[in-house]
Amino acid sequence: MSARILVVDDVDVNVRLLEAKLTLEYYEALSCHDGVTALAMAAEHQPDLVLLDVMMPGMDGFETCRRLKADPATRHIPVVLVTALDGRDDRIKGLDAGADDFVTKPIDDVVLFARVKSLTRLKEVTDELREREESGRRLGVNIEGAARLRGSGGRVLVVDDDALQLERMAVELAKEHRPMVEADPEKALAAAAGPIDLMIVDTTSEGFDGLRLIAQARSAPGTRKLPILAVVDPLDRPRLVKALELGANDILPRPVDSEELAARVRTQVRRKRYADFLREKLDYSLEMAVTDALTGLHNRRYMAGQLQGLVSRAGRGGEPVAVLVLDIDHFKAVNDGFGHDAGDEVLQEFAVRLATNVRAVDLPCRLGGEEFVVVMPGTTLDDAHRIADRIRRDIAASPFRVMGGREQLSITVSVGVAASLGEGDTPEALLKRGDEGVYEAKARGRDQVIARAA
Ligand code: GH3
Ligand code: MG
Ligand code: MG
Repeated sequence: MSARILVVDDVDVNVRLLEAKLTLEYYEALSCHDGVTALAMAAEHQPDLVLLDVMMPGMDGFETCRRLKADPATRHIPVVLVTALDGRDDRIKGLDAGADDFVTKPIDDVVLFARVKSLTRLKEVTDELREREESGRRLGVNIEGAARLRGSGGRVLVVDDDALQLERMAVELAKEHRPMVEADPEKALAAAAGPIDLMIVDTTSEGFDGLRLIAQARSAPGTRKLPILAVVDPLDRPRLVKALELGANDILPRPVDSEELAARVRTQVRRKRYADFLREKLDYSLEMAVTDALTGLHNRRYMAGQLQGLVSRAGRGGEPVAVLVLDIDHFKAVNDGFGHDAGDEVLQEFAVRLATNVRAVDLPCRLGGEEFVVVMPGTTLDDAHRIADRIRRDIAASPFRVMGGREQLSITVSVGVAASLGEGDTPEALLKRGDEGVYEAKARGRDQVIARAA
């Protein structure tokens, strides 16, 4: 799907020119002529990028950018400021206002599209992370604070063989970050795989091929996600474009301006921290929210969410869904006779046998205690009955070895089976029919499967 871009400029000719260029490249273009409208449109249409003119009457581009970045509904949308060619102060002010990038007027098409492409690609990744953040919130996982991560204190690796420039950048960076310098590209690549937040590569160097280093970093698993800032010669357009195409996240023209260096590094470091935060912390907490800690199966909360969707789809004429409700027989006797730890081992082995006897699309879950449920999409009552009986036999067929193999316990299970009845059926009613099956199986002497048609 092509990216959607919001163009904001008070001069209508500029808007139409940009719109035409974007449409030619198959982007979907939206536009407006002032900051206030831009804020509303960004929130409503959720574009993949905002191209924002700096000079506008009323709310200017800086203020518009600041507000876009302050609003949780829009702060994830990359903002590219359109500044005057000699607008160095504008650029610095813009980056401080949270802009992700800038292009200068008159707009160079090649640079524009290279930037648009790299920023929309980056947004795809952050969107995916945000989706997970959102599902984390629905599951009650607290992820507040992710967006407030700081852009200072970054571990920045500078790769350059121009000793003077290297020294100047290092001194500048040391005011806010922890710079490391390296003139040898091989050693740089090895260092980049370590705990680094950003790599700055000089692509104008005589002594080594900076473009090649960028390509190598992008293809190696350990450095694939590392942000890269390429130092470029602004007049050497082919190399500048190549750097972006190879995966540099941003470019920095030579001679390197200290303010611009500071602002760009801050943005990249903040971005890296945000991605790391979501990836590492959220993966763990999300897993805890959907997984039963003892058995590694899905938990009740996850099962309930999935079952809701499957039952309502079946109710609208979609494929049927079946459930197995399983309750281990006389489990209390295991705890009483061999201790709680042995009981836990039985639960773990039970989970393994359950999971290995169902298909990949089925959801084996532990509801709590010694009660389990398997949700089976696209399965009829008869098929579910057959699978339930296979599980029952597998549980009873061989003893459970616990306490390091010192004890072998014969375990059996009672299973209730139910399937969706179409319109009007609910997850609660479905599980209740499964429960009634279990109850009946227990009453009839346990170690059996009872299917409830209705
Ligand atoms: P029935 O055949 O009628 O199902 O009898 P039962 O003994 O399996 O059922 P009951 O509900 O009376 O006992 C379940 C026991 O499971 C009681 C509880 O202490 C134990 N239990 C619940 N959760 C855990 C757990 O996480 N680990 C262990 N080891 N035991 C647990
Ligand atoms: Mg019980
Ligand atoms: Mg039981």
